[in-house]
This record gives sequence, C-alpha cells and structure tokens, in this order.
Amino acid sequence: MATGRRPMAAPALWLALTVALTATLPATQTVTVAAGPPPHELYIKAGLLIDGTSGAPRRDMAILVRGDRIEKIGALKALPRPDGAELLDLSGKTVLPGLIDCHDHLTINVKKGWEYEPVLRTEVDAGIAGTVYALRTLRAGFTTVRNLGDSGGASVSLRRAIEDGLIEGPRIVTAREMLSMTGGHGDDFNAFRPDLRVAGAGKIESGVCDSADECRAAVRYQVKYGADLIKIAATGGVLSAGDELGARQFSDEELRALIGEAHALGRKVAAHAHGTAGIKAAVLAGIDSIEHGSILDDEAVRLMKEHGTFLVPTLMAGEAVFTRAKSGQLPDYSIAKGLAVWPMMQQSFRKAHEAGVKIAFGTDTGVTPHGENAHEFELLVANGMKPMEAILAATRNAAVLLGRDKDIGTVEPGKLADLAVFDGDPTGDVSVLKKPVAVVKGGRPVDLGR
Ligand SMILES: [Zn+2]
Repeated sequence: MATGRRPMAAPALWLALTVALTATLPATQTVTVAAGPPPHELYIKAGLLIDGTSGAPRRDMAILVRGDRIEKIGALKALPRPDGAELLDLSGKTVLPGLIDCHDHLTINVKKGWEYEPVLRTEVDAGIAGTVYALRTLRAGFTTVRNLGDSGGASVSLRRAIEDGLIEGPRIVTAREMLSMTGGHGDDFNAFRPDLRVAGAGKIESGVCDSADECRAAVRYQVKYGADLIKIAATGGVLSAGDELGARQFSDEELRALIGEAHALGRKVAAHAHGTAGIKAAVLAGIDSIEHGSILDDEAVRLMKEHGTFLVPTLMAGEAVFTRAKSGQLPDYSIAKGLAVWPMMQQSFRKAHEAGVKIAFGTDTGVTPHGENAHEFELLVANGMKPMEAILAATRNAAVLLGRDKDIGTVEPGKLADLAVFDGDPTGDVSVLKKPVAVVKGGRPVDLGR
C-alpha cells in the first residue's frame, strides 16, 4: 500500500509555488510584457526596378524592408545597407510588385469529368486541393489573388489557413460562392435530375437566388460567412449545362438588389458576363467589374467607360475552352460554346482596350492549371496591349479593383513588401514573367521549391 512518504508530484509543486508567489505579489503589481525583438530588416539590391506606378524602370536600386512593409527606396549608392539588415542580392534581376490575379479559382481544377464533382466531391476535397494550388500560385509570383467562386466556402478556409501561417499561399480576396439564378451559370445542378441537391444545403446556402428578396438574403449569407466581395453570374457560361452565352441572367430588379446590398455592406461585385445584354444590364446596375466580357458592342464599351467599370478579360480561359472543345475534352453541351467564345473574346478585348476601358489582369485559373497564370501576359500582348500596360493591369490597376491599393500593387514606401523577381526585362518580352527567380511576400522570401 502507498502509505509512505513520496516526493511531491510536479503539478502539485507548481500549484504550491503559484499560490506562494500570488500571495506575495502587491495588489498594485502590473505585469509588463517584455518588448519583442525589433522588426526584421531586409535590404534588397535590385538590378532593374519596375515599381508598378507607370514610371520608367530604374536601374541599380535599393529597397529597405522593415517587418512586412517597404520603408525606403533609393539609388543603390544613396541608400547603403544598414548594419544588421539581411541582404537579398537581386543585382542583374528585375524586381516587380507581387503580381495580382483578379480572377482565380484556387479550390477548383477543371478536368475531364469535372461536371460530376458536385455529387462526387465535398468542399473538404476542394480545400485540401487548394492548399497545393495556393502554393503553386505564390511560387509563380502571384502574391495576391481574387478568388471568384468556390464550393461551400472552401476558399474562406484556405484564406484563414494562409493568414494563420499554417500553409503558404497568396493573399486571398474571396467572393466565396458565385451567386446565380435557378438554372444559371452558377447553379451546380443544371445537368442533374431535379431531386439532386447538396444534402442539407438550402437554395440560398448553395448560392442560388430568384427575386430581389432572395438575392439580398444570398448576399448577406455570403458576407456572413466570409466573402470579401460578391460574384454573380449575369449571363450563361461555357462550362455550365443548358444555358446560352449570349442570354442574360437575373432581372434588372435582381441585379439592383444584389449589387445594392453588397455595396451597402461594403463589398464590391464582380459579374461573370459573356453576352452583350447581360453586360449592359450589369454595368447599368452598378457592377464593379465585368469578367470575360466576351461579346462587347460599341454601346457596351461606351457604358463601361462612362461608369468606370473594369474589364477582367481572362483570355487564357477563352483559349483553353477553344483548345479543349477541339480535342474532345469538354462535355457535349459545352463544345459549341467553347468554339464560339474564343474569337469573340479576343475581338472584344481589343475593342475595349483601344477605347480605353479600365483593364485588370485575370486568368480564370482553375479552368487552366494552377501556377501557369502568367501566360495571360502573352495573350494580352498578342491582342494589342503594350508589355508595360499588361504589367500595370496585374499590379497597380488590379490593386485598385480589389480596393487594396493602399497596401499592395506598387513598390513604394509604406506598402507591403510583396515582390516578384525575374531574369530579363519583361517590358521587352513578357514571357520572362512565366518563371520568377524570387518571390517575396510581406517581407519574407518564399521558398520556390527548386
Ligand atoms: Zn471564373
């Protein structure tokens, strides 16, 4: 029997000490937290700096980063390395602001048979896959993405995991689920029998709404569960069953309810829109950006200019569905649409760009493989943009569309130290943007895994 004396167990000892210490503390004692170490300083030598402000590229520059922000920028000779600052030597390299993709789907990967995913996969599958795609995207030089459509809020979980430092990925500005009318582009169950829905999910919860009241409720639901902005489907789409590219979706009343409610809650609204009527209706109802914008007439272009509406062209998606339609990689209901959209999309982009419509860079990645986002630069330039215009579309202008231009989009003192670094000069050849040699996010160099 354990009746004899034995040493005091550790928890009991700790308790005894705590009680003793507490008893001796004066009542007025304040606990002070020791100051942490000073913020980390990073001194970057940049061979060529393209700062995203539309100014001429500058040679032999120095960037001093303190913590996660840029503190000073100057000529290499005028801004020497402070004692103790870590050196990142990018002499001979070209430094740009971290790139921004305004139309991405980090939790989606469209491949053959993808149309059955609503009944085969859950948002947990999507979120886990998203952790891999997010890392690929960051390593491709994209330090911020606007995520325009997920399932079940998977992108909100992804954003949280990145912000919490659990995984590496870009900064995410997410719309959560795309809102759609019944049978519209974002109704995931168009191709299925009428009684198939996500188990347990009601109509509003699955992103489908009809009538102004339902549309307001759907916006509130997305915002409640983490949406930074709202995405709506204002026309049919290529990859959705049973709808037409040219046909508009949502009534004027529904569009006003969706956009009005989102704006009242401080959220911008992006519209998936291919057809002319849906584009015009969305612009007149106050939409912030038209995604794809595939069939623009002169009046649509004029309205977008008048209202200051951004176009996010997503040429990569147009090219991809065209190629896959030809090689039998699309479901039957998408083939004709995939063949038709690509020539129209290029023509409309040229028209909008020549007229001076505001353009922000977006790829619709998820339709194409993650990490290949920079191919969009090549398509923008092939369709009439100057390389510097394409770079500004993916930096300063993208940050303005996201409403984050105080923090990101340019390399300037006070901004977050998000940088993408390349060999060669992208103002001569944008294809160099496809392979960064270094990426910095929030003042921390990213492991490129090579
Ligand atoms: Zn999309």
